[in-house]
Amino acid sequence: MDDELDTTIREAVDCAEVVALLPAVAQLTGDLALLRDELRPDPERLLEPEAGLTPEQQADARKLAAEALRAHLDAGAASAPPGLDRLRALLAFVVGDAEVVEEYLPLFTEELALQGTDPRAPDWTLDDIAPDADVRVAIIGAGMSGLLMAHRLQQAGVPYVVLDKNHDVGGTWLENTYPGCRVDVANHLYSYSFVHHDWPQHFSTQPVLLDYFRRCAEEFGVREHIRFATEVTDAVWDQQQGRWRLTLATEQGTEELEATAVVSAVGQLNRPAYPDIAGRERFAGPAFHSARWDHEVDLAGKRVAVIGTGASAVQLIPPVAEEAEHLTIFQRTPNWLVPTPEYMQDIPAGLRWLQRQVPAYAAWYRFWLFWKNTEGMLAATEVEEGWDDPRSVGALNDILRELLTAHLEQEFADAPQLLEHVIPDYPPSAKRVIRDDGTWPAALKRDDVDLVTEPIAEITPRGVRTGDGIEHEVDVLVYGTGFEASRFLTPMRVVGRGGRDLHEHWGGDARAYLGMNVPGFPNLFCLYGPNTNIVINGSIIYFSECSVSYVLRCLRLLLERGARAMDVREDVHDEYNEWIDEGNRARVWSVDGVSSWYKNEHGRSAQNWPFSLLEYWKRTRRPDLDAYELL
Ligand code: NAP
Repeated sequence: MDDELDTTIREAVDCAEVVALLPAVAQLTGDLALLRDELRPDPERLLEPEAGLTPEQQADARKLAAEALRAHLDAGAASAPPGLDRLRALLAFVVGDAEVVEEYLPLFTEELALQGTDPRAPDWTLDDIAPDADVRVAIIGAGMSGLLMAHRLQQAGVPYVVLDKNHDVGGTWLENTYPGCRVDVANHLYSYSFVHHDWPQHFSTQPVLLDYFRRCAEEFGVREHIRFATEVTDAVWDQQQGRWRLTLATEQGTEELEATAVVSAVGQLNRPAYPDIAGRERFAGPAFHSARWDHEVDLAGKRVAVIGTGASAVQLIPPVAEEAEHLTIFQRTPNWLVPTPEYMQDIPAGLRWLQRQVPAYAAWYRFWLFWKNTEGMLAATEVEEGWDDPRSVGALNDILRELLTAHLEQEFADAPQLLEHVIPDYPPSAKRVIRDDGTWPAALKRDDVDLVTEPIAEITPRGVRTGDGIEHEVDVLVYGTGFEASRFLTPMRVVGRGGRDLHEHWGGDARAYLGMNVPGFPNLFCLYGPNTNIVINGSIIYFSECSVSYVLRCLRLLLERGARAMDVREDVHDEYNEWIDEGNRARVWSVDGVSSWYKNEHGRSAQNWPFSLLEYWKRTRRPDLDAYELL
């Protein structure tokens, strides 16, 4: 029996990340002596597996953790959540620098939810502060952000309605059903901080994600407040009444709805972008976009073309290549690939056992992902002044380029004819980096797959003609050409104070204060709005959690002050956006000559957040009254 438990523990610790394992077991057992100096991760080596710990160090750490866990289980000891001092020591083990720990401590007290509670839940209710207030929030979108907003409003007892054009919750995870679709941010990070889940894979597939959000909607109890098949076509601010009037297109016809505040949770990557290629409408066979997959079309025995090689196309191409008779890929720009061997692997049974026995492991693993992938990688995206190699933007970015080039050379060592077409000539992270476990390179190397890099000249009834005059005949055409990411909140018509039209006001160059507020549009809050996207692999759920907490605090402020609405001041908004632009100019995704959905038609990044995740958390902690005009 004992041997069996030893074996189970051994198997569990063997598949854990050492950097998360030691703090998790130290937290469980209360034994901080486990956090030995010689087993501490090196903050300078975050890019390396296990932060550069040698195999011997890793083995020592696993042995230490296994023994401590065994003793703890034998003793049947209870475990108390860590107090601040213990949390400080645990964080210090991973982060190293005491000052940095102090800076991040309040954020991680929230984000890791180690007390087993939900620290981001509102600590007030409408009944407490303004029971008679006339308030109703309209949330547009029942995806990841909209569900979260609904949940928090429900917790605060604030009346709300969610409006979604689809027939179910899930947003992007409902709409994107293309083969191979999965999340490319590890699920331990890409999940609500307060809803723990036994993920079957490190990077789960679309059906698993959709189930997760469906389950959340049920557990939050928000489903009955969602009106499906209801598209908001217009939102107009009624100056007289100080409220929003929404026009809804439903299956029964058009309707009006009033709300005191509107939260847009429509996402950035929602409306498919079709390429402006001549002859598109002339193609005779089935043609569809990755986000509008036509499951009626059987690809078996067909010649298929995929235009685009972004994150969506790279996922759908390998299964399509399996099914189709022949596949032609039209690539305009190659991707940097980041080695991720566990990308499509199941989470080992041992690790799932560990998470049940040591629930803190999932939290520390989340922290480790957050730390190394986001805050830890930011420096590698910095544009250094005077750097004159166009292949990179600074010393760290160049190290990353070398590492990723070596990876590509290794992946394509047996296909030298492909190598020149797959090594990007732009700096890493200027476009989204793609996760690679060998599946994508293997698809490119197949005999029945052609990679075409000659620019497309036109689409013909029979296929795609490239600039060299060759017509590539195909039966089915798939557009993996991305989304209209810059056209925030389209196609909705939004009219604010004094008849100001949001889209005319933006002129294709969307800006908002904290990604949420636009001057002249009182009580309109955007989630995943302008400049709240993150490039290096952080989780957009983090941003939504920060933004949603902020919206709740704004509503509370309005209710406490007895004000009807708040409108961000133009000068505050402008100054904020100058700061954002300056930040983005110093990041690799702004470099000239690289096109991506990170830039709008003006060449400005209206999408990305250029600073640390901590910075966004700090800025959204509480509304600054001076930033707003209260109406
Ligand atoms: P995308 O990254 O914008 O990729 C669009 C692709 O289409 C690019 O390869 C682009 O080439 C190509 N393209 C566009 N117009 C073209 C034209 N006229 N001729 C030839 N090629 C053309 O879109 P996406 O792949 O849908 O991904 C968008 C974002 O969605 C991702 O960056 C990611 O944030 C998110 N996403 C996430 C996941 C996930 O978590 N699993 C999966 C998919 C997508 P150029 O590069 O030359 O412009």
